[in-house]
Amino acid sequence: MIDELRPEVLVVGAGPVGLFTALCLAKKNVSVRIIDTGVWACTHSYALALHPQTLELLEEFGLRDRVLADAYPVHTVAFFDRAGRRAQTKAGDGTNCLAVIRQDHLENLLETELGKLGIHVDWRHEAATVRPGDERATVTVHKFEKESRGYIVAHTEWVVSKTFEVEPRFVIGADGYNSRVRRTLNAEFPEIGPAQYYAVFEFKSDADLRNEVRVALGPDSTNVLWPLPGGQCRWGFELPNFADPTAEGRESLREAGFGDFPSERSKDRVLMSRGDSGLIVDETHFRVLLADRAPWFTGSIDKISWRIVTRFEHRMAKRYGAGQLWLAGDAAHLTGPAGIQSMNVGLFEGHDLAANISSIVRGNAEPSILGFYNDHWTSVWSRLHGIGEKFHATPTADPWVAGHVDQIAACLPAHGPALTAMAESLGLK
Ligand SMILES: Cc1cc2nc3c(=O)[nH]c(=O)nc-3n(C[C@H](O)[C@H](O)[C@H](O)COP(=O)(O)OP(=O)(O)OC[C@H]3O[C@@H](n4cnc5c(N)ncnc54)[C@H](O)[C@@H]3O)c2cc1C
Repeated sequence: MIDELRPEVLVVGAGPVGLFTALCLAKKNVSVRIIDTGVWACTHSYALALHPQTLELLEEFGLRDRVLADAYPVHTVAFFDRAGRRAQTKAGDGTNCLAVIRQDHLENLLETELGKLGIHVDWRHEAATVRPGDERATVTVHKFEKESRGYIVAHTEWVVSKTFEVEPRFVIGADGYNSRVRRTLNAEFPEIGPAQYYAVFEFKSDADLRNEVRVALGPDSTNVLWPLPGGQCRWGFELPNFADPTAEGRESLREAGFGDFPSERSKDRVLMSRGDSGLIVDETHFRVLLADRAPWFTGSIDKISWRIVTRFEHRMAKRYGAGQLWLAGDAAHLTGPAGIQSMNVGLFEGHDLAANISSIVRGNAEPSILGFYNDHWTSVWSRLHGIGEKFHATPTADPWVAGHVDQIAACLPAHGPALTAMAESLGLK
């Protein structure tokens, strides 16, 4: 039984990264509690694929085959322009692949695994304040309940039903883009490149996608066609000239320190426009985008089941943590969607952080080892963001590839040595 008010670790945020980090800690017998403001795990597929190297990581927990049972396997990343196929690389070797799985399925799987170890996510619990201390941090937690209000027109509202303090030795902020733990750390979160907007459409199609993800590069856009399980696909079209005043306004507010949104107790979240984007995601515009950027796509569009305009920022925290407070996942970095890097690399960060913290709480390592965690992942993300050294084309690279190095590098579903190998297979160094 863990002491719920004095666990070794409190994980704030039960997105994929928080759930996986808590699972890694629990497997190492570190007492851990996990809370999330949301009502339950997210209900849609946002980040939709696990990198081949992430599947290898999940194998350690016996989860690889469980994921693959629910997933659509992708063996090739193919690059196109308007005219057709230009280049391709393998995703994974032998039995390994890029596994397309809905984010909500992945979250449910991780939550179930945690439950088997006796750890249950405290949904509707918000880390309201986080204060580092001498031995332990103090986190004030608000529990929310729905309450009926109103006289003439009855309605329900979320209200704080209970407030209590948790005193963990470590707090892991896996609390996403608007991370309170990051803000408590006073870690700057600068923008490293301009935000990208994407129009995303999911639909049923008779297209034969041949276990490929197809990236269609235009002069100023990166567009991606994902096959999904169950005969569905997702097209994401970059919108280079689009701006959403609501999202930009919220961003300025956040940068000015008014950072507490979204305030709804809903897990379906982040940086998406619900404003005047209706015309952008109507079927006519979808067909215009297809005709303009990927006329080779001749599959049917049977029923559009999801459409949205999403804003993706490019940011990296100046530090991953200090003392008792550490970050993983979107709390520490944001990037574009094509390579599915933020979630996948976040899962590795959670794994690494859990291993370090477990060694520290057992007395097998000094807290200073967390400095290596900071340095390692800062360097991984500097490379993913193209800060400092960038990929360049070798003389053997296809001229088309050589003309699209930055766009291609951002779409490769890998990090670290696996990224280097994937890039080399395309003649990039
Ligand atoms: C519409 C949409 C489309 C996307 N498409 C893609 C894509 O195509 N490719 C891609 O790679 N990525 C995509 N993403 C991003 C992807 O979903 C994230 O990278 C991924 O979810 C990050 O996981 P995480 O666990 O780090 O953070 P999150 O999933 O954001 O989880 C953070 C959790 O912390 C909780 N939380 C926040 N504050 C507190 C608090 N104070 N107390 C308690 N809990 C708190 C939140 O409720 C949330 O559940 C998309 C996102 C959206 C919204």
